[in-house]
Amino acid sequence: MISVDEALGIVLDVSKRLPPVTVPIHDALGKVLAQDIRAPDPLPPYPASVKDGYAVIAADGPGEYPIITESRAGNDGLGVIVTPGTVAYVTTGGPIPDGADAVVQVEDTQLLESASSEPKRVRILVKTSKGIDIRPVGCDISKDAIVLKAEELLGTAEIGLLATVGVLTVKVYPTPTIGILSTGDELVEPTNESLGRGKIRDSNRAMILAAAVQQKCKVVDLGIARDDEDEIRAVLDKALSPHNNIDILLTSGGVSMGDRDFVKPILQQKGTLHFDKINIKPGKPLTFAEITTEKTKKVVAFGLPGNPVSCLVCFNLFVIPSIRNLSGWMNPRLPRVQAYIKQSIKTDPFRKEFCRAIIRWENNAGLGFPGFVAEVTGQQMSSRLLSMKSANALLELPPSGKVIPSGTLVPATVIGDIISGLSLGNNLLSSDVVNTVTQLNKESGDTCYKVGILTVSDTVASGSGPDRSGPRAVSVVSSCSEKLGGATVTATAVVPDEIEKIREILQKWSDVDNIDLILTLGGTGFTPRDVTPEATKGVIEKETPGLLYVMMQESLKVTQFAMLSRAAAGIRGSTLIINMPGNPNAVGECMEALLPALKHALKQIKGDKREKHPRHVPHAQAITNDVWERSYQAANNDVKEEQHGCGCK
Ligand code: AMP
Ligand code: MG
Repeated sequence: MISVDEALGIVLDVSKRLPPVTVPIHDALGKVLAQDIRAPDPLPPYPASVKDGYAVIAADGPGEYPIITESRAGNDGLGVIVTPGTVAYVTTGGPIPDGADAVVQVEDTQLLESASSEPKRVRILVKTSKGIDIRPVGCDISKDAIVLKAEELLGTAEIGLLATVGVLTVKVYPTPTIGILSTGDELVEPTNESLGRGKIRDSNRAMILAAAVQQKCKVVDLGIARDDEDEIRAVLDKALSPHNNIDILLTSGGVSMGDRDFVKPILQQKGTLHFDKINIKPGKPLTFAEITTEKTKKVVAFGLPGNPVSCLVCFNLFVIPSIRNLSGWMNPRLPRVQAYIKQSIKTDPFRKEFCRAIIRWENNAGLGFPGFVAEVTGQQMSSRLLSMKSANALLELPPSGKVIPSGTLVPATVIGDIISGLSLGNNLLSSDVVNTVTQLNKESGDTCYKVGILTVSDTVASGSGPDRSGPRAVSVVSSCSEKLGGATVTATAVVPDEIEKIREILQKWSDVDNIDLILTLGGTGFTPRDVTPEATKGVIEKETPGLLYVMMQESLKVTQFAMLSRAAAGIRGSTLIINMPGNPNAVGECMEALLPALKHALKQIKGDKREKHPRHVPHAQAITNDVWERSYQAANNDVKEEQHGCGCK
């Protein structure tokens, strides 16, 4: 018995790319290109206006000007020249008349009243510069540029590009034609007539026909053949006749060890049998052969197992990559991800198992990190097609006979839409997911802050040690999320102790990703490599020393070495950046200390003036030392009350 990987290797080896054909572009969607495509001319072919407005000479500046011509999209734009002291009306995409070197959008102009006999006049309200709102010739696509390369998959944008460059027929690799046959004495056509004793409806054929159509293949329905050697051979002979032009033959059933399982010997007689058993569950009896027909055409043949789940799992794992190879794909294998399993799973002692599951993305998948979680689709018998319903992944479980505990990260082959995992079968949603959904809904009306966690460590960045602080900080933030006004970790990263790398990511997170709160972890001490505070000071615009003071107070309670922290904190734009210690426990302590004021701080940074400073005592009282002392105690009491039940640590 060969392994899944060996079997897939053989299938891919045998499934050779089909010779290219030329098709009209409306038949090219989903196909792989077999030629490079060049642009015969530039786009835009003329300098074009980006806006509806007026083509001007930038040096003229604001003022009142006569409109000497109108250049709309579709005009050739030739003839009239814009000279100093004149302008031309242009619409989006319209050619810029000669002489003009900028466009002023209509919103920055005022059309003036004028008698019908006089040329219209416009007041230009703003100063512009050369080139503004003009697309120069070839700025989208330059002449002779290769817009698509051979072996690229044609999606909708690619079809648009073909049309843009005037290509109406294109050379592509065709998708294969697939013949599909069910075998079995027990099978009847799937009608609603009551079943005779010993009979079942043929589900595999309808299912595999649909699966092949989904892969954009042409299909030939070969019907049902009895478990009779002559009948199966006759059906296959007819199926393989040249007029059907079949590239892939798929049979189901009749490949097990029963005395009437004839598919395997027939495939062997007709061609080369490459394998007839794989160490896999479900799908062990999968048989694979290559047949050469009278016309020396090669046909790839799969004897799929009869059990419906085994049949469809094998289609996904082996037939789809075979289809893709024949269709010219560069990477024919199905994508794989890692997913945290929601429940513990007992594995098969001998065979690698492909367990049907629904995977979906969760913000808190494992150890507080975002990731995929997987929920198994109930009883996994290979006859129970319901286990395949809604499944979008096959969890790959190595054979051991042991139980894999829940929360373990396992590889999963993706066989369906992983985005709609949330909307599939509400009854399958765990309470965690429901919580995520309600939390998101709640946050959309409420403030929601994005948090970035940046681990700064040479050891972690080089892969010589695990990141303990990062995951810890993520879980601290999630457990304090509500107290922080719905804060969610949206970015995590690890960088070495290098000032430039730290600065770069702090800038990107604040300026591009609009993260509200960045917590850096580590690199704040006295060693020569500790530069996080320097990098932070390089990017912040306002310092926030109070936060550092509070963190220091809290950390000193735990260790005197806290005094060696050189941490910095401050505001850049609307982002608050705080250096925290690298020690995983210290993150929790520091967050706990900052929590009472952090939500308020984030709101203020965003410019929310409605948020009032919570006062512990009326201002008028806070005048003597004695009263100051009392207010300090009151403040601490407030804080303690607020902290109660936070569960941050
Ligand atoms: P076989 O591989 O022929 O031994 O079939 C294994 C199991 O799959 C048996 O229980 C069959 O009844 C069932 N089976 C085979 N072909 C089909 C089919 N086309 N539709 C539904 N069930 C099938
Ligand atoms: Mg059978």
